[in-house]
Amino acid sequence: ANIYLTGIKPTGDFHLGNYIGAIKPALAAAREYDTYYFIADYHALNTIKDADELRHSIRSGAATWLACGLDPEQTVIYRQSSVPETFELTTILSALTPKGLMNRAHAYKAARDRNNEAGITDLDAGINMGLYNYPILMAADILIMEATRVPVGRDQSQHIEYTADIAGYFNHRFGSAYSFPLPKGVIDDSDASILPGVDGRKMSKSYDNHIPLFLPENKLKKAIRRIPTDSTPVEDPKDPDTSVPFQLLAHFADEDRVADVRKRLEAGGMGWGDLKNELFEAVNAELAPKRARYEELMAEPARIDEILEAGSARARERAREVIDRVRAAIGVG
Ligand code: ATP
Repeated sequence: ANIYLTGIKPTGDFHLGNYIGAIKPALAAAREYDTYYFIADYHALNTIKDADELRHSIRSGAATWLACGLDPEQTVIYRQSSVPETFELTTILSALTPKGLMNRAHAYKAARDRNNEAGITDLDAGINMGLYNYPILMAADILIMEATRVPVGRDQSQHIEYTADIAGYFNHRFGSAYSFPLPKGVIDDSDASILPGVDGRKMSKSYDNHIPLFLPENKLKKAIRRIPTDSTPVEDPKDPDTSVPFQLLAHFADEDRVADVRKRLEAGGMGWGDLKNELFEAVNAELAPKRARYEELMAEPARIDEILEAGSARARERAREVIDRVRAAIGVG
């Protein structure tokens, strides 16, 4: 069976773009594949160095996905840190991975470029080994579950290529005893899956143009009202395809509703304010029950922990089988 695996950001600061581009497709995949989704808490440790903050982040990341509809019976949801076999495999894979490969990794190069742009002479300043080694940890996350399908953003295909390369080094050496299946990236290239931010660029935290996923209703309404629009009078025809609120609506309202709004905009007589009301209604209808569920879960952290524990036990069972075969193949244990 194809295992479909993805990492979940251990943080609660998801925005509408993450919901449309990452959460919804992953929940759809759960109906089709055997899905293993993990909270990347040891990855987060590279940036979060405060225990309470990390604990909170792990829970809010998990609660977000559960609130959005992740079914822990159907999907194995677990903490990266609860599967220690991953870190044993990281050590093993490190021994087979050329350092030069890590030097060329995008995230590491980007961090050095930032130093360079800031005029810092030591390009490695502020970069920890966790960031540097991250591609190997990521390969271990995938390979320890023998995952073969991994969704990746279009600018992240290097990760999956690295994993295949690293699996290849192992298979080349030890393949007669044990081989990792080679994972494939599932890339969604369609522009249709990119949600614009309030300024029309891709919605992103770094652009500061995002709308948080679980804004309280009144703040959501305000955020939508504040989306910039031009001063075309109400009665004039408007072009839906260049309108940010309309593009957002297309992701949240059903097809008939979207077609109807398109007609009304093109005909004239529908103002931007009306469009924003439609948008608020659609977004709120979709998110209100999820927001409520999120708040319920966050008020009951023991329940979240319990779900993660149960998932971790299932994930670990699989990881143990793989690590036993790997250990036998390389001659330890
Ligand atoms: P940052 O700006 O800090 O890089 P981000 O807001 O762009 O963060 P990421 O953490 O990079 O969000 O993205 C997490 C996931 O959400 C990825 O799978 C990414 O493809 C998806 N995603 C992020 N922004 C959008 C968007 N505007 N439309 C569709 N998908 C998105």
